[in-house]
Amino acid sequence: MPVRLYNTLGREIEDFSPLNKDEVRIYTCGPTVYGYPHIGNYRAYIFADTLKRVLLYSGYHVKHIMNLTDVDDKTIRDSQKEGKSLKEFTEFYSKEFFKDIESLNILPPSKFTKATDYVNEMVEIIKKLLDKKIAYKSEDGSVYCDIKKFKNYGKLSNLVLEEQKENAGGRITSDEYDKENVQDFALWKAWDEKDGEVFWDTELGKGRPGWHIECSAMAMSNLGEQLDIHTGGVDNIFPHHENEIAQSEGATGKQFVKYWMHNEWVLVDQKKMAKSLQNFYTLRDIINKGISPLAYRLWLLTANYRTRVNFVWEALEGAETALKRLQNAYKALGSDIGKIDEIYQKQFKNFVEDDLDTPKAVALLWDLLKDEKVVNADKKATILDFDKVLGLGLENLKEEKIPEEISKLAEEREVARKNKDFKTSDELRNKINTLGYEIKDEDSGYSINKI
Ligand code: AMP
Ligand code: ZN
Repeated sequence: MPVRLYNTLGREIEDFSPLNKDEVRIYTCGPTVYGYPHIGNYRAYIFADTLKRVLLYSGYHVKHIMNLTDVDDKTIRDSQKEGKSLKEFTEFYSKEFFKDIESLNILPPSKFTKATDYVNEMVEIIKKLLDKKIAYKSEDGSVYCDIKKFKNYGKLSNLVLEEQKENAGGRITSDEYDKENVQDFALWKAWDEKDGEVFWDTELGKGRPGWHIECSAMAMSNLGEQLDIHTGGVDNIFPHHENEIAQSEGATGKQFVKYWMHNEWVLVDQKKMAKSLQNFYTLRDIINKGISPLAYRLWLLTANYRTRVNFVWEALEGAETALKRLQNAYKALGSDIGKIDEIYQKQFKNFVEDDLDTPKAVALLWDLLKDEKVVNADKKATILDFDKVLGLGLENLKEEKIPEEISKLAEEREVARKNKDFKTSDELRNKINTLGYEIKDEDSGYSINKI
């Protein structure tokens, strides 16, 4: 069975077949480094990470590029507010982002690209678009993409807005806008006072790139003119990804991306979690409540990436309890690593290759833990195999060293239990509990875990 993925272009689940069978090339729109990302943003990166892990699990080689938007309207605005240079300001938040993705056990991409390192490449694309008359210079020296010249404009975001396109005579300078404002968008923004120190002197004049061209340049410079998969959150579909297609395909004449994939939103009180709505939480808020970032990962995995999830603290606390249970159960499996159970593995692979059905994959993990027919060592091997995709960091868990006093009490209890002296056995169990450990009877004996 091939991997099957939902392609926003065409809006259906398709069999995945890479352009070049030796390597899958993926580009993920990364963070704008102007503050701490909120946990909604991290859904986009956990989703991209899960996708990558599934492809690796299926035997593909993957080249994955993620960018850091370190120049755009927001980074310039907020660095000025803080009286810092753009570089100092964005480097700080880039480092915080790296720490966060490590704590979420997100595999680093093959490369992080910074937009400011690719200005020359952006200028080259814009020059091609000017030559082909797909772009034009405005009175102030900015360059805009003429969306009417690109006949497929609107295909990704399903702009049934033919009329709107017809009426789209104007231009839009801001990086972010909605469908109500379908207009020619800025590829290059001529310098104005608000930009302060931030500008490049190029063949296009003094100015800075628009946000959308950044991703086209970084993607094509690192992955070639045609990519297999491009990911982002659904709010990137319009205008960002629509504009990426227009610029890239306008410049090369080739299809830019074969599979466009997007994660749905994390909501709060049924509204999109967003910085602008002030209804967001960061990973720091989670950690300050004593909850592991991996519990957030687990919580997201229990929903399909294409469904909206409403964030409430109770749900995350539930995920934390589930994660602890999982970790304890895993540690209780002992130190031997046996053979991967092939039946479970096949089921797991079918689930995750079916458009990343992680809810079913997580449920299967619990079924396996409960399955008495699979011996502990094989369970351990199979769970470690599953965790290559789930990324819950189980392989890093140290086996619990049980203090000698607890082992002795547990042994005494086992003797009492075998002699059917249940009173003593219960007393010893309670004593073990008060010392912070719990004992679980199993077919083959018992296991001890920290509570
Ligand atoms: P930004 O830094 O605003 O460009 O957003 C980074 C990523 O997070 C993009 O892929 C967005 O689509 C995604 N994103 C933003 N808000 C949410 C949300 N509430 N839920 C899920 N993804 C989001
Ligand atoms: Zn992007």
